[in-house]
Amino acid sequence: MSDSDLLGRPLERLIGPKTAKAFEEAFGYLTVADLLTHYPRRYIRRGELTAIDEIPVGSEATILAEILSVKVKKIPRRKGGILEVVVTDGQAKLLLTFFNQVWRERELKVGREGLFAGKITLFNGKRQLSHPEYQLIPDGDNVDGAIDEFAGRLIPIYPATSKLPSWKIEQSIEILLDQIADIDDLLPAEILESEKLIPYARALRQVHQPDDLQSASDAKRRLTFDEAFILQLILVKRREAIRRLHSHPILVGKGRGLVVRFDAALPFSLTAGQNRVWQEIAADLASEGPMYRLLQGEVGSGKTVLALRAMVAAADSAGQAALLAPTEVLATQHYRNLLSILGPLAEGGMLGSEVDALRVELLTGSIPQAEKKRIHDGLREGSIDLVIGTHALISEGVEFARLDLLVIDEQHRFGVEQRDALRERSENAPHILVMTATPIPRTVAMTVFGDLDVSILDELPQGRSPITTHVIPVLSKPHFLDRAWVRIREEVGKGRQAYVVAPRISSSSPAKRTDEKSEDPEKERAKQMRERVARLLAEELPDGIADGGDGESMASVEEFFEVLNDGALSGLRIAVLHGRMTPDEKDQTMSAFKSGEIDVLVSTTVIEVGVDVANATVMVILDADRFGVSQLHQLRGRVGRGSEPGLCLLVTRSEEESPSMQRLQAVASTLDGFELSRVDLEQRREGNVLGASQSGTRSHLRLLRVLEDEAMIIAARERATELLARDSHLDTVPALRDFVIRRERESDTAFVEKG
Ligand code: ADP
Ligand code: MG
Repeated sequence: MSDSDLLGRPLERLIGPKTAKAFEEAFGYLTVADLLTHYPRRYIRRGELTAIDEIPVGSEATILAEILSVKVKKIPRRKGGILEVVVTDGQAKLLLTFFNQVWRERELKVGREGLFAGKITLFNGKRQLSHPEYQLIPDGDNVDGAIDEFAGRLIPIYPATSKLPSWKIEQSIEILLDQIADIDDLLPAEILESEKLIPYARALRQVHQPDDLQSASDAKRRLTFDEAFILQLILVKRREAIRRLHSHPILVGKGRGLVVRFDAALPFSLTAGQNRVWQEIAADLASEGPMYRLLQGEVGSGKTVLALRAMVAAADSAGQAALLAPTEVLATQHYRNLLSILGPLAEGGMLGSEVDALRVELLTGSIPQAEKKRIHDGLREGSIDLVIGTHALISEGVEFARLDLLVIDEQHRFGVEQRDALRERSENAPHILVMTATPIPRTVAMTVFGDLDVSILDELPQGRSPITTHVIPVLSKPHFLDRAWVRIREEVGKGRQAYVVAPRISSSSPAKRTDEKSEDPEKERAKQMRERVARLLAEELPDGIADGGDGESMASVEEFFEVLNDGALSGLRIAVLHGRMTPDEKDQTMSAFKSGEIDVLVSTTVIEVGVDVANATVMVILDADRFGVSQLHQLRGRVGRGSEPGLCLLVTRSEEESPSMQRLQAVASTLDGFELSRVDLEQRREGNVLGASQSGTRSHLRLLRVLEDEAMIIAARERATELLARDSHLDTVPALRDFVIRRERESDTAFVEKG
């Protein structure tokens, strides 16, 4: 049996069907590899008793403690009784209670040490464990304990359940370890050497049964590197495979001069940063293999302009280009923006239009069926040059004559499937440009988007004004809120506009993280996918909102519209915007706001991404603690887009000192999106970030931490790139090759199953 077969063996053959079933139920484990990667959370040493006081009530704990006293309490008129055992760490005490198990008195002797596991509860103000699982440590009195297996060794403490306490897990793993004692190493020897890693078999043994803490830590390092390395191998391989596809080169400046005309129509010239990024994009576009690039940049840094320019370049070289936007509001905005820049150049297909003019269309779920059909036809025949749309663009029935460039706005709202779906629409692979305004730390980009190249726009165009952010703690300083409304009045008095953002639509509606209605019922699935990706990535909301939390007390758009209209903001022109309005209503409201017919827009997060009204200078975010750090950063990017400074007020009912207050303070203290996305990541289970990894390798990452293991991820990326450059099919390392192929196949099916 080969080594990889060994790791893939079903658990029941080694540890018996009953225990195997328990592992499946508790953790979903099926194979030897699954259980071997169930790593200890920590290690404890005999004699080093667990500090009882420090264990939070309600947690599942495994503690090492000494028995202090044992007492049997009779229950009146009943047989049996309650056995009460008090254990101690030398200072604090913990009560263990066993009902009708008085016989345990025989083994639970005063002075014995043992591991006790269960849920810590509070009874009469005292910590206790009722019916704990336990394992006594053999000691001198115990004649049977001839093998003093506990003496001096480190005891692994595993994530456990009541059916599978830590020591049971330990026993099962021990059985597996004996089987794999001389398993081959998948990693090439030179990588082990250059990264100073211990062999695989030893690492597995030492992580579960360490000789000492140093060995445990060496073992973890080795196993963490494996996770990073395999992931990077898959991503780099995929990246290389994509680059080997064929696409139409787009040679900027070689066509009819449309790009020059586009530039001439821009009311500004590109910043140095935009020019630099443009060079990167242009080089990609000119190549035979497809561009596959992520363009990161703060809100307003001028990404969209570059994307539109690339689209015009594609049309100029006789291809088609599509822009996929996450919401209808945004798609419409991009469409209008493009039309206004192109002017007569966008009147292709119209009567009397000039010869070179491009035909530009907007395709969203809400446009009438007949119109849709007309656009579908135009895309198929190639008479449409540029199309901007929402998910309707990737629905069934949309075919392109020659899609050469696909721009995806706000990556976080799309999964890898959407990218693939569009790529498969065409004989030649389109160039793909993904734009995101949520800054992603380098190693996250390397892991979550590891198959894309990354460009960063790190400066804002000239004349952009800074945004000032303040937290308004309504609990301690309620009068500050009144001042917020006064500020809005002042700004409106100066001819400016304002946003008021609330976490939900009406007081009866459940909290929702994204309130865009699905435009096309068939695309509900795509929407769910998008939401899943969004949830897992950096623009996450705090938990409360995802599960509805104490939704009752959250500010709502409708409620505040009324309150402000009748009160603090009466006399101003106020309108609402949210996802329950029809696309037409939304569109009309946005246009009216843009043209200055509305002073104050009370809305949900529909305005979160990309909405661009330069005259808006104030934003008040109600119950701001309900939003994620990155999302708040996105939201406030809506103000200060013109020459006037922007002001963002984060209203919260959080307690001073509370974690949510700290998050808001962090947002108020910096405008650096990268810094904030770090804060965001640090506060969330990072596993989730990697879990959403577009490689689909969710279940395989147990140790890797995107921030902590930054250096290792970078090293793994380098080693993976080197190895593949030398041996693109991994033929010199067949065992590794087979492993990677299996992993890739698993991730493919994982996607199918999850769908
Ligand atoms: P992003 O897509 O990164 O949010 P946009 O491309 O939408 O940014 O640009 C934001 C605003 O800044 C738009 O109004 C755009 O016209 C303007 N803009 C873009 N590039 C420049 C520039 N180089 N100089 C001045 N204004 C610019
Ligand atoms: Mg944008």
